[in-house]
Amino acid sequence: MKAFILFLLFFWIASLGIQAQNGSIMTVKGPIPASEMGLSLIHEHVLVDFIGADKTGKHRWDEKEVVPVVLPFLNQAKELGVKTLVECTPAYIGRDPLLLKKLSESSDVQIITNTGYYGASDDKFLPDHAYSESADQLAERWTREAKEGIDGTGIRPGFIKTGVNGGSLSELHAKLITAAAKTHLETGLVIASHTGPAVPAFEQLEILEKEGVHASAFIWVHAQGEPDLDMHVKAARKGAWISMDGLDNSNVEQYVQMLENFREHGFLHQTLLSHDAGWYSPGEENGGEFRAYTTLFEKLIPLLIQQGWAEQEIEQLLVINPQNAFEIKVRRN
Ligand SMILES: [Zn+2]
Repeated sequence: MKAFILFLLFFWIASLGIQAQNGSIMTVKGPIPASEMGLSLIHEHVLVDFIGADKTGKHRWDEKEVVPVVLPFLNQAKELGVKTLVECTPAYIGRDPLLLKKLSESSDVQIITNTGYYGASDDKFLPDHAYSESADQLAERWTREAKEGIDGTGIRPGFIKTGVNGGSLSELHAKLITAAAKTHLETGLVIASHTGPAVPAFEQLEILEKEGVHASAFIWVHAQGEPDLDMHVKAARKGAWISMDGLDNSNVEQYVQMLENFREHGFLHQTLLSHDAGWYSPGEENGGEFRAYTTLFEKLIPLLIQQGWAEQEIEQLLVINPQNAFEIKVRRN
């Protein structure tokens, strides 16, 4: 009898860890079936604090002031059809899960937050322990956030966000990516890494491969920063997600060209699109200037349709791909 109770207890504990199983994505309000993700903006921001890891913290902004500034932009996105917004602000640069939950409840837009550290901008946003701890120790921290929630809020991340500089990887950044790979194997969360050019993109893919992680667990963030479109195709061929995520009113034609390149090479199913727009900036009057999440709907989609793109292809980019990228699933080599 005792053994049976222990057996049950074991399964009860095990089930706590697998609330987010294959086929689901993790929002700030908890797991939902991936099929409910709907039309998604996969790289946007609600709040970003650029002051640096040593000075940032919740004392820098007041939720009561931030919500009225951000909410109209989320509502506007929702009216345009957005069901899910992936908030790409990492820890130590303005990540605030409770604020995101509040905004999600108020707008009814599903929001996804992240775990992981951002090494880009020459390490300005890294806490001290990112230097001293090993990849295993960092992975342990991030895995704990994924399993137990962030800072006691119970809010769990839906992806791993990292960031590296534009050149060859430093030892420190290679360690961050190793930690991300290890976290992926424990959690099944996809890795979105602020990258830009091809050199660090391929170096990161190499690290993942060495750690036994398939390239399809990697989102090459800001891939539009690489002018050689053959590099996009080369990374896609390995299985990586290529994220074109800096869409604004000035570069719509360039995005059409990049998308056409993907379509020609048969990789539309690995392409992601977003604005990298927003955000409330603490320290600036009324949060500074906020860029709306609208160019995709007002400019890019109409242009694609005008150029003969099928609705199905657009749905692939905005609905199917986000769901496949953010689905919680361990991708091994
Ligand atoms: Zn961003």
